[in-house]
Amino acid sequence: MSNSRRSFFKKALFGVASVAFLKSSETLAALAKSCPQGAPTTDKVKKKLLDYTSKTAKRLNFVANSADAKGHKKFKAGQNCANCKFYKADKKEPVYGKCAMVANKYVPSCGWCKSYKPTKK
Ligand code: SF4
Repeated sequence: MSNSRRSFFKKALFGVASVAFLKSSETLAALAKSCPQGAPTTDKVKKKLLDYTSKTAKRLNFVANSADAKGHKKFKAGQNCANCKFYKADKKEPVYGKCAMVANKYVPSCGWCKSYKPTKK
């Protein structure tokens, strides 16, 4: 491989990694700002956190703080990820959990999306 091609691929890889890092940083910053429980602290959760700018998050009208869902036609007071049947709290960081509706990415317990379903009592 020529030096210029190698250089091109290195720059392209760096660019992709930088965009992923920036998106992740944006999500963490948004969480720290809007989520009452703050940003996650464990690396495991940070690495698999739902990207709030992703198509999936947008399609589901996901919000990091359920208070921001007021006005959505499907939202009712008291609904949040913590009491949704798709939420599975993390053992080490229980205010974050995996959600089956977003490919088992982590969401904050205070979040909400239009696929919300209450847990059975
Ligand atoms: S499906 Fe439930 S747990 Fe998953 S993001 Fe929506 S409200 Fe939260």
